[in-house]
Amino acid sequence: MATHGFEPGHLVVCRYRLPSEHQPWIHGIHIGEVVEPGDDPATWNGHNSEREYCELARVVPVRYCRRFSCSGCRARHPEGFLQHDGADALTRITEEEAGLSLPAQVLRFIGLEALRNLARAHYPGASDLLAEQDKEVSA
Ligand SMILES: [Zn+2]
Repeated sequence: MATHGFEPGHLVVCRYRLPSEHQPWIHGIHIGEVVEPGDDPATWNGHNSEREYCELARVVPVRYCRRFSCSGCRARHPEGFLQHDGADALTRITEEEAGLSLPAQVLRFIGLEALRNLARAHYPGASDLLAEQDKEVSA
């Protein structure tokens, strides 16, 4: 059943969990998978179910970095981590986008300025991707 238009299994990124444009290398890009909220109040807070909480608070349950794990989470959270994030802050992404390299994800989800900063920090692969972008722009 959909939660605010998001179906279980949808892949997402969350706006406020992305690294900053200025320092995109600080942490990885957490790729999330929407999960089904529970219906049993006893397993939530005893009063409401997780689903009711999601409806009231306009949030969606998302498990980050399990199917697609960023480099930081791979060691620290091998099972990923579950969060309830604002439906308005979530963007659906494709399987292909979820599998891109960090520089390509930085460009896609944060922007060109972030990729420039990543290249300035000598992140592997960032300057090659940046060179490709500049070629496209000037072509
Ligand atoms: Zn992660």
